[in-house]
Amino acid sequence: MSSTAGGYARRSQWTTAERRSAHRKAALRLPTVGIDIGGTKIAAGLVDGEGRIVEQLRTETPDRSKSPKVVEDVITELVLELADRHDVHAVGIGAAGFVDADRARVLFAPHLSWRNEPLQAALSERLRLPVVVENDANAAAWAEWRFGAGAGEDHLVMVNLGTGIGGAIVRDGRLERGRWGTAGEFGHMTVVPGGLRCPCGNRGCWEQYSSGNALVREARELAAAESPVAQPLLDRVGGDVAAITGPLVTEAARAGDAVAVELLQEIGTWLGLGIANLAAALDPGRFVIGGGVSAAGELLIGPAREAFRRNLTGRGFRPEAEIVLAQLGNEAGMVGAADLARQVARRFRTVKRARVERANRRAHRAW
Ligand SMILES: [Zn+2]
Repeated sequence: MSSTAGGYARRSQWTTAERRSAHRKAALRLPTVGIDIGGTKIAAGLVDGEGRIVEQLRTETPDRSKSPKVVEDVITELVLELADRHDVHAVGIGAAGFVDADRARVLFAPHLSWRNEPLQAALSERLRLPVVVENDANAAAWAEWRFGAGAGEDHLVMVNLGTGIGGAIVRDGRLERGRWGTAGEFGHMTVVPGGLRCPCGNRGCWEQYSSGNALVREARELAAAESPVAQPLLDRVGGDVAAITGPLVTEAARAGDAVAVELLQEIGTWLGLGIANLAAALDPGRFVIGGGVSAAGELLIGPAREAFRRNLTGRGFRPEAEIVLAQLGNEAGMVGAADLARQVARRFRTVKRARVERANRRAHRAW
């Protein structure tokens, strides 16, 4: 009895710190918007506190020649459209490229005209709302850790096999960004000195051997060599070597095409080798493999696990990290960006279209 009474007494006399903490806990459940800026599409989603996408909008990414302001306009309009129907308390942006350690500037984005762009300040000024900017691979890893294949493991490394290799590190339940925000660029670790040329300017980068581009290059090379073993693959594209794509190889492998299985095995073996290197440096408990190529599932992960075990330093004398497939698919970046934004959300502030448009008109007149 007395404890209830005591509890009530304490409750009615909340200190400022307790009130802040209560607001903070409520803020962690607020709906926020996550935006994923890709090379061809910008996706915006309203995401709830459990990582569920309540509503999603998509539009085309403005051409690289367009000014940074055009991309900001697109983002602002997507947020306002969602805010017309929902309370939006904060916005998280996941962008391909280098984001500085303060998560304020996009240092470089390959698909956009952003060069040292102060995106966070520009957008929070326009929307009058907290905004977080994060590298897309970091955002995806965060989502997998919070809601997907990384749940329950605070030491996590994510490896995304897309056209190249993207990556991210979660350490002690926090994103490890590095000193300048550019940690996790695993794709450009040299695995073959003097090897294949990479667009980054170096030779022998990991992503030249284990990525969607590597898979397609190897498949086309084999087909172009008119090897009889590649005939079933060629039949699938009517003899057009250039029509061979990553998903096509995966589909062929699933259907039992021996050469397609072999190609994925090769990519998987390189994947396992690189992962063993990462384990030597970072010692995570789990590797989460995402990106388009991971749709191949066990056909990729099986060979990766074998190569990992063959190359792991101290094998047999140490616990081994698990290698698992990502669970959240293409939407991981959006969900992760929204969840990171939730950490800076303000309980009593939402974005209002009228206010934003009024402010924009004023800014325009001043201009
Ligand atoms: Zn490279």
